[in-house]
Amino acid sequence: MFVAEIYIKNTMLDGVVGMKKLNNYTETVVEQVLKEILADRDDICKCETCQLDIMAKALNNLPPQYYVTDRGEVFSKLLASYLDTRTKVVTEVTKAIMQVSRQPHHAANEVADK
Ligand SMILES: [Zn+2]
Repeated sequence: MFVAEIYIKNTMLDGVVGMKKLNNYTETVVEQVLKEILADRDDICKCETCQLDIMAKALNNLPPQYYVTDRGEVFSKLLASYLDTRTKVVTEVTKAIMQVSRQPHHAANEVADK
């Protein structure tokens, strides 16, 4: 299910038809995992600043997995590494959430959109 969602998302993000694009598969999985974790938690700030901080911290601790696509043609190869990537991503995103929650880049009273 997650895999299908990522596939659809990538296809949509590809933009101009026939144009090749460089993608980082790790980034796609981080975004997906963060969304899933945030959906289950009410104790952390979900503003854009904090979400981007969490993604940046997690991605800095994970190896990038670049691939070129002009439609998701290469995507089936990446599916094989999905579960392995996902396990590592969950660990790093969870760590990043704890760090950002402890020290958000904004004052606590600055966030109203929770
Ligand atoms: Zn925030």
